[in-house]
Amino acid sequence: MSPHSDSGHDDHSHLSDTELRVRSLESLLTDKGLVNPEALDAIVDRYENKIGPRNGSRVVARAWVDPDFKQRLLENASAAIDSLGYTSTQGVDMLVLENTPTVHNVTVCTLCSCYPWAVLGLPPAWYKSFPFRSRVVKDPRGVLQEFGLKLGAGIEVRVWDSTAELRYIVLPERPAGTEGMSEEALADLVTRNSMIGTEKAANPKAGKS
Ligand code: FE
Repeated sequence: MSPHSDSGHDDHSHLSDTELRVRSLESLLTDKGLVNPEALDAIVDRYENKIGPRNGSRVVARAWVDPDFKQRLLENASAAIDSLGYTSTQGVDMLVLENTPTVHNVTVCTLCSCYPWAVLGLPPAWYKSFPFRSRVVKDPRGVLQEFGLKLGAGIEVRVWDSTAELRYIVLPERPAGTEGMSEEALADLVTRNSMIGTEKAANPKAGKS
Protein backbone atom coordinates (compact mmCIF):
# COMPACT_ATOMS: atom_id res chain seq x y z
CA MET A 1 0.00 0.00 0.00
CA SER A 2 1.18 3.48 -0.74
CA PRO A 3 2.14 5.50 2.31
CA HIS A 4 0.54 8.39 0.41
CA SER A 5 -2.89 6.79 0.23
CA ASP A 6 -5.72 9.04 1.30
CA SER A 7 -7.53 6.27 3.15
CA GLY A 8 -6.93 5.54 6.80
CA HIS A 9 -5.39 8.85 7.79
CA ASP A 10 -7.30 8.72 11.07
CA ASP A 11 -6.32 5.20 11.99
CA HIS A 12 -2.66 4.32 11.71
CA SER A 13 -2.94 1.05 13.60
CA HIS A 14 -2.71 -0.98 10.36
CA LEU A 15 0.55 0.65 9.29
CA SER A 16 3.89 -1.08 9.62
CA ASP A 17 6.82 0.53 11.44
CA THR A 18 8.35 1.43 8.08
CA GLU A 19 5.15 3.04 6.85
CA LEU A 20 4.87 5.04 10.07
CA ARG A 21 8.46 6.21 9.72
CA VAL A 22 7.82 7.22 6.10
CA ARG A 23 4.70 9.13 7.17
CA SER A 24 6.57 10.96 9.92
CA LEU A 25 9.47 11.80 7.65
CA GLU A 26 7.19 13.07 4.91
CA SER A 27 5.22 15.24 7.37
CA LEU A 28 8.42 16.71 8.76
CA LEU A 29 9.90 17.46 5.33
CA THR A 30 6.61 18.94 4.16
CA ASP A 31 6.31 21.13 7.28
CA LYS A 32 9.81 22.44 6.69
CA GLY A 33 8.95 23.17 3.07
CA LEU A 34 11.61 20.79 1.79
CA VAL A 35 9.31 18.58 -0.27
CA ASN A 36 6.04 19.03 -2.09
CA PRO A 37 3.67 16.18 -1.15
CA GLU A 38 1.96 16.37 -4.55
CA ALA A 39 5.29 15.85 -6.28
CA LEU A 40 5.97 12.83 -4.03
CA ASP A 41 2.54 11.37 -4.83
CA ALA A 42 3.23 11.83 -8.54
CA ILE A 43 6.52 9.94 -8.26
CA VAL A 44 4.93 7.06 -6.32
CA ASP A 45 2.01 6.89 -8.77
CA ARG A 46 4.46 6.84 -11.68
CA TYR A 47 6.34 3.82 -10.40
CA GLU A 48 3.38 1.97 -8.85
CA ASN A 49 0.80 2.42 -11.58
CA LYS A 50 2.14 3.97 -14.76
CA ILE A 51 5.38 2.02 -15.12
CA GLY A 52 5.10 -1.29 -13.32
CA PRO A 53 6.34 -4.52 -14.90
CA ARG A 54 4.22 -3.98 -18.04
CA ASN A 55 7.07 -2.03 -19.66
CA GLY A 56 9.41 -4.95 -19.16
CA SER A 57 6.78 -7.36 -20.54
CA ARG A 58 6.62 -5.31 -23.73
CA VAL A 59 10.42 -5.30 -24.04
CA VAL A 60 10.51 -9.10 -23.72
CA ALA A 61 7.62 -9.65 -26.16
CA ARG A 62 9.33 -7.42 -28.73
CA ALA A 63 12.54 -9.41 -28.35
CA TRP A 64 10.60 -12.65 -28.90
CA VAL A 65 9.09 -11.47 -32.20
CA ASP A 66 11.88 -9.25 -33.54
CA PRO A 67 15.34 -10.85 -33.83
CA ASP A 68 17.00 -7.53 -34.71
CA PHE A 69 15.59 -5.90 -31.60
CA LYS A 70 16.67 -8.89 -29.50
CA GLN A 71 20.21 -8.55 -30.85
CA ARG A 72 20.30 -4.85 -29.98
CA LEU A 73 18.81 -5.60 -26.55
CA LEU A 74 21.52 -8.12 -25.73
CA GLU A 75 24.29 -5.88 -27.04
CA ASN A 76 23.14 -2.59 -25.51
CA ALA A 77 20.09 -3.00 -23.30
CA SER A 78 19.90 0.62 -22.17
CA ALA A 79 19.74 1.93 -25.76
CA ALA A 80 17.29 -0.74 -26.96
CA ILE A 81 14.94 -0.16 -24.01
CA ASP A 82 15.27 3.58 -24.51
CA SER A 83 14.22 3.14 -28.17
CA LEU A 84 10.85 1.78 -26.95
CA GLY A 85 10.40 4.88 -24.81
CA TYR A 86 11.05 3.28 -21.41
CA THR A 87 13.84 5.60 -20.43
CA SER A 88 15.44 5.09 -17.07
CA THR A 89 15.36 8.09 -14.80
CA GLN A 90 17.77 6.31 -12.48
CA GLY A 91 20.74 7.01 -14.74
CA VAL A 92 21.92 3.42 -14.55
CA ASP A 93 23.07 0.91 -17.13
CA MET A 94 20.90 -2.08 -17.96
CA LEU A 95 21.98 -5.58 -18.88
CA VAL A 96 19.64 -8.20 -20.32
CA LEU A 97 20.25 -11.81 -19.28
CA GLU A 98 18.95 -14.37 -21.75
CA ASN A 99 17.56 -17.64 -20.43
CA THR A 100 18.21 -20.66 -22.66
CA PRO A 101 17.39 -24.37 -22.37
CA THR A 102 20.70 -24.78 -20.48
CA VAL A 103 21.10 -21.49 -18.58
CA HIS A 104 18.72 -19.91 -16.08
CA ASN A 105 19.41 -16.41 -14.72
CA VAL A 106 18.09 -14.86 -11.52
CA THR A 107 18.72 -11.35 -10.21
CA VAL A 108 19.10 -9.98 -6.70
CA CYS A 109 20.56 -7.04 -4.86
CA THR A 110 22.49 -8.56 -1.97
CA LEU A 111 23.32 -5.16 -0.50
CA CYS A 112 19.90 -3.49 -0.52
CA SER A 113 17.17 -3.36 -3.18
CA CYS A 114 18.63 -2.17 -6.51
CA TYR A 115 16.05 -2.96 -9.20
CA PRO A 116 15.33 -1.87 -12.79
CA TRP A 117 12.52 0.59 -12.03
CA ALA A 118 12.11 1.81 -15.61
CA VAL A 119 11.03 -1.63 -16.83
CA LEU A 120 9.72 -3.39 -13.71
CA GLY A 121 8.34 -0.58 -11.53
CA LEU A 122 8.80 -0.92 -7.78
CA PRO A 123 10.34 -4.13 -6.37
CA PRO A 124 8.13 -6.63 -4.52
CA ALA A 125 8.63 -6.84 -0.75
CA TRP A 126 10.29 -10.25 -0.93
CA TYR A 127 12.95 -8.92 -3.32
CA LYS A 128 14.02 -6.47 -0.60
CA SER A 129 13.82 -9.05 2.19
CA PHE A 130 16.97 -10.29 3.90
CA PRO A 131 16.15 -14.02 3.49
CA PHE A 132 15.85 -13.71 -0.31
CA ARG A 133 18.92 -11.50 -0.65
CA SER A 134 21.13 -13.78 1.40
CA ARG A 135 19.80 -17.21 0.44
CA VAL A 136 19.45 -16.86 -3.33
CA VAL A 137 23.23 -16.46 -3.57
CA LYS A 138 24.02 -19.50 -1.42
CA ASP A 139 21.26 -21.82 -2.58
CA PRO A 140 19.65 -20.49 -5.78
CA ARG A 141 18.09 -23.84 -6.69
CA GLY A 142 16.49 -24.20 -3.29
CA VAL A 143 15.10 -20.66 -3.36
CA LEU A 144 13.78 -21.08 -6.90
CA GLN A 145 12.11 -24.32 -5.88
CA GLU A 146 10.28 -22.40 -3.15
CA PHE A 147 8.96 -20.15 -5.93
CA GLY A 148 7.70 -23.29 -7.66
CA LEU A 149 10.53 -23.43 -10.21
CA LYS A 150 12.29 -26.78 -10.27
CA LEU A 151 15.38 -26.75 -12.48
CA GLY A 152 17.06 -29.93 -13.71
CA ALA A 153 20.67 -30.70 -12.77
CA GLY A 154 21.71 -30.04 -16.37
CA ILE A 155 20.64 -26.40 -16.18
CA GLU A 156 23.25 -23.92 -15.04
CA VAL A 157 21.88 -21.30 -12.61
CA ARG A 158 23.51 -17.87 -12.71
CA VAL A 159 22.84 -15.32 -9.95
CA TRP A 160 23.46 -11.66 -10.80
CA ASP A 161 24.00 -9.08 -8.07
CA SER A 162 22.55 -5.68 -9.00
CA THR A 163 24.35 -2.48 -8.07
CA ALA A 164 23.67 1.23 -8.06
CA GLU A 165 25.28 1.45 -11.52
CA LEU A 166 24.03 -1.73 -13.20
CA ARG A 167 20.55 -3.28 -13.17
CA TYR A 168 19.44 -6.53 -14.78
CA ILE A 169 16.35 -7.84 -16.46
CA VAL A 170 15.96 -11.51 -17.34
CA LEU A 171 14.81 -12.37 -20.86
CA PRO A 172 12.76 -15.51 -20.21
CA GLU A 173 12.41 -18.22 -22.83
CA ARG A 174 9.46 -17.88 -25.15
CA PRO A 175 6.99 -20.61 -24.10
CA ALA A 176 6.23 -23.45 -26.50
CA GLY A 177 2.96 -23.25 -28.36
CA THR A 178 3.04 -19.47 -28.77
CA GLU A 179 3.84 -19.42 -32.48
CA GLY A 180 1.58 -16.96 -34.24
CA MET A 181 0.54 -15.13 -31.08
CA SER A 182 0.48 -11.33 -31.29
CA GLU A 183 3.13 -9.27 -29.55
CA GLU A 184 0.48 -7.88 -27.21
CA ALA A 185 -0.79 -11.37 -26.30
CA LEU A 186 2.79 -12.54 -25.75
CA ALA A 187 3.41 -9.62 -23.39
CA ASP A 188 0.56 -10.97 -21.23
CA LEU A 189 2.62 -14.12 -20.64
CA VAL A 190 5.63 -12.19 -19.32
CA THR A 191 5.22 -11.97 -15.56
CA ARG A 192 7.22 -9.68 -13.30
CA ASN A 193 8.82 -12.68 -11.60
CA SER A 194 9.86 -14.18 -14.93
CA MET A 195 11.92 -11.02 -15.52
CA ILE A 196 13.52 -11.30 -12.06
CA GLY A 197 14.14 -14.97 -12.76
CA THR A 198 12.08 -16.64 -10.05
CA GLU A 199 9.69 -18.21 -12.54
CA LYS A 200 9.30 -18.91 -16.24
CA ALA A 201 7.05 -16.97 -18.59
CA ALA A 202 3.47 -18.21 -18.27
CA ASN A 203 2.16 -21.10 -20.30
CA PRO A 204 -0.36 -19.74 -22.84
CA LYS A 205 -2.92 -22.37 -21.81
CA ALA A 206 -2.60 -21.58 -18.12
CA GLY A 207 -2.62 -17.81 -18.62
CA LYS A 208 -0.75 -15.28 -16.55
CA SER A 209 -0.37 -16.36 -12.95
FE1 FE B 1 20.53 -2.26 -3.87
